[in-house]
Amino acid sequence: MCGIVAYLGEKQAYPILINGLRRLEYRGYDSAGVALLEGDALTIYKCQGKVSDLESHINGRSTVGTVGIGHTRWATHGPPNDVNAHPHQGTSGDLALIHNGIIENYAPIKEELVHRGHVFRSDTDTEVLVHLIDDIQRSENVDLAEAVRLALSNVVGAYAIVVIDRKDPEVMVAARKSSPLVIGIGEGEFFCASDATPIVEHTKNVVYLEDGEIAVIDRTKGLKIRNIKNQVKTPFIQELEMQLEALEKGGYDHFMLKEIHEQSRSIRDSMRGRLNLGKGEVVLGGIKDYEQKFVNAKRILILGCGTSWHAGMVGEYLFEEFARIPVEVEYASEFRYRNPIVNEDDIVIAISQSGETADTLAAIELAKGRGAMIIGICNVVGSSIARVTHAGSYTHAGPEIGVASTKAFTAQVTVLTLMALMIGQKRGTLSGGNFYRLLNELDAIPDKVQKVLQKEAQIKYIADIYKDASNALYLGRGYTFPVALEGALKLKEISYIHAEGYPAAEMKHGPIALIDEAMPVFVIATKGASYEKVVSNIQEVKARKGKIIAIVTEGDTMVKDLADHVIEIPETADPLVPLLSVVPLQLISYHIAVMRGCNVDQPRNLAKSVTVE
Ligand code: GLU
Repeated sequence: MCGIVAYLGEKQAYPILINGLRRLEYRGYDSAGVALLEGDALTIYKCQGKVSDLESHINGRSTVGTVGIGHTRWATHGPPNDVNAHPHQGTSGDLALIHNGIIENYAPIKEELVHRGHVFRSDTDTEVLVHLIDDIQRSENVDLAEAVRLALSNVVGAYAIVVIDRKDPEVMVAARKSSPLVIGIGEGEFFCASDATPIVEHTKNVVYLEDGEIAVIDRTKGLKIRNIKNQVKTPFIQELEMQLEALEKGGYDHFMLKEIHEQSRSIRDSMRGRLNLGKGEVVLGGIKDYEQKFVNAKRILILGCGTSWHAGMVGEYLFEEFARIPVEVEYASEFRYRNPIVNEDDIVIAISQSGETADTLAAIELAKGRGAMIIGICNVVGSSIARVTHAGSYTHAGPEIGVASTKAFTAQVTVLTLMALMIGQKRGTLSGGNFYRLLNELDAIPDKVQKVLQKEAQIKYIADIYKDASNALYLGRGYTFPVALEGALKLKEISYIHAEGYPAAEMKHGPIALIDEAMPVFVIATKGASYEKVVSNIQEVKARKGKIIAIVTEGDTMVKDLADHVIEIPETADPLVPLLSVVPLQLISYHIAVMRGCNVDQPRNLAKSVTVE
């Protein structure tokens, strides 16, 4: 998920790697490392912290080598520490490997390798892969490239990897699946990187490796590509035209926009290795040991702040519907200063993107002190909340840099959906048929998110019409009420337009007084349990000349006749509508904020990780 840089050529690799890692720093990370190869001497340096910490750690020591690999890690398996930092090595010590992504089936492979005598040093999924390659190289007596190919044939998951071998310093092997990898081709030198930013200053000629391809870079024979089935591929060399700054944001103008567009992938990553359609099951490794306690819980308390609190509200509806357990959602800041009733058979779910939210941390301590079992849902591995909770599930959304949360929200909702489905199934409150239907629907969500993202031009057009509004109202019902709250929060945060989210039926108890022809009202009116009721609410707004921007299910005609604008989203099961309907609202806020000239990635007065109460 974070950064990879590699070099093979005539120059010294170390300065190129460090420089490249710096260029990738925007991706966010928690540790860094390099491996350098000169003749058969392989040197590895790695540590927790920033690239500058790595430099201080190396300072004064030998950095000789014309072959090298460099990595910034964003921990997914095991906390960020020196041992878990990449590169990793196998048993022989000949190989050094860096990896971005997640090896889903690392557990059974590790078990088998332990059986075969391998000893593991780190907690990472990555170390399993390098041991596997090492094991195959020896047992099958094959070269590095073939060992990588055979190993990857056994791997399920996402990866961009680069491997070097002390026994063959003329060769570097790279491969990818679902994680990006670019190869730069210079004069007698080659580069690999997660994106073109570390490469562009050295060469403009690049090859974007395709999913399932393995690149063998040989000092004398050059670049050869084949796929996992051993078919030879012709490298397609492209010329880079982009400016460096644009490259850092993946070609997007802002991190927020990049992160909105990443959601198809990030939701898929949140489900990776957890949702198993073939077996018809949900496995959440991080809470496995506490599953029974969860299943028997008398009550669930969900704690969070801001966007995480909104995700928690979706969680409330999900757990109540699927698992029939009473749920209360609390602002962590309120909870901690009340004298809340917490029982030993309560399950507390604490949600935080950064895992450092001060109020949520304090609320956890309070609930823990009263005997509750605490489950964390965080994005940042090894964060404070991840450490103080009894168990938990990471969201695996990748680093979120824009201050206004987008992909972290959908990842939190995805994890809550998986949890609620799993507990519902185990409690027998969700029928087998329903469980399986929802599992299939959830699996289809990433593709549907992609379809929603394709509506961006239309959404931008609507943003232009309402960009000068002073107020906005957001309405939803049932599962989409929290989405209305989240939509309003996004608009407030980045465009500074006053906005309020309301349950649609509550409008007539107050906010309806605000409606006139200058008031845009965003309504989530997708087909589902309360569709007709929402249509009535839309009528009420129209009767008072309010402007309706409705998010509807594809093919809807009834709302189309009433609303000023409709944005269609693909049909899905009611409980999954939040994952799709929030996306147009994120995009609306983004475009309005840009049109108003606001600093989208760093809105005034806001901080990304709220570590003060
Ligand atoms: N899953 C690997 C780890 O936790 C790689 C993480 C990354 O993409 O940086 O070490």
